Amino acid sequence: MNQKNPNPPYKRIATEEAWASDELIRLYRKEIEEKTIGDPGFQSLWGFFSGDSEKARAHNRRIQDLDDERLKDMDDSGIDIAVLSLTSPGVQIFDPATASSLSERFNDELAEGIARHPDRYVGLAAFSPLDPANAAKELERSVKKLGLRGGILNSHTLGTYLDDEQYWEVFEAAEALEVPIYLHPQTPSANMIEPFLKRGLDAAVYGFACETGLHALRLIVSGLFDRFPKLQIVLGHCGEALPYWLSRIDFMHGHISVSKRYPHVHPLKRKASEYLKENFHYTSSGVGWAPPVMFVRDVIGPDRMMYAMDYPWQFVPSEVGELEAMPIGEAGLKQFFEDNARALFKIGKS
Ligand code: CA
Repeated sequence: MNQKNPNPPYKRIATEEAWASDELIRLYRKEIEEKTIGDPGFQSLWGFFSGDSEKARAHNRRIQDLDDERLKDMDDSGIDIAVLSLTSPGVQIFDPATASSLSERFNDELAEGIARHPDRYVGLAAFSPLDPANAAKELERSVKKLGLRGGILNSHTLGTYLDDEQYWEVFEAAEALEVPIYLHPQTPSANMIEPFLKRGLDAAVYGFACETGLHALRLIVSGLFDRFPKLQIVLGHCGEALPYWLSRIDFMHGHISVSKRYPHVHPLKRKASEYLKENFHYTSSGVGWAPPVMFVRDVIGPDRMMYAMDYPWQFVPSEVGELEAMPIGEAGLKQFFEDNARALFKIGKS
């Protein structure tokens, strides 16, 4: 095991750190008990985490805390600053109008938590993706009034993916505000999840990556980034494996997009890999293992790969040491742990 540097010449910023208000956890518990939300992924994930096991209780205590316990865990694991976001699936399992009003309350509450520890936290805004005008308004309010640094989108919303242009107002707003949208995992949509469930592969083992990588590709091939060329999306988990597929995606999509085989597939202005290199940033959330982190730095670029822990879902205090053993030099580590996150999330130096 590699020990972390006790006195690094850089700050460490963790960029995909989960938070939930008491109210959200209560609402999830109520939905699980009353089974009013039929989404099988939600039932699987939050059916367990809204339960009374020791693991679920410790997890929910940590995820709701924005004060002493979280700060101590950050100190113990060597994290100076956390980029906080409402945990998955956020408000996205509620009907769009309810989700809109909940997102306002939760963004206010997150901003209050950040204001108590302004040197340790920044945050991303929740929004209601199927209520596009309000989603754009809430992103703008969160950035301009609350000081949040972008938005969090937990992949599909009630089975809907945002490559349909009726939902693009929030992306238009993000581009205009010059803030990123973090495309965070969620359990696979109801039409996709069945083969994952029996063997418990629906969540972080594999289902999250399939669901979220699919969503990212749908955004790319829809032409979203031809419409909004400066839009920036963040992918966790080393890009949900997409960097591994760059060459094959280009080769196959290049052919398919000109074949007229599919009525909704058209040629793009650039190669698919170019969007993945110029419109996406990446984090190491949930992957405390150097080889894939270095691979993403190598094929995407060292200025687009950032550190994240994925607290408290994957709280591994020793992880920082493992990643500080990467042979990328002190300047490379500073870029990975600090500089890239400061630039993307506009985190000033104190
Ligand atoms: Ca996460």
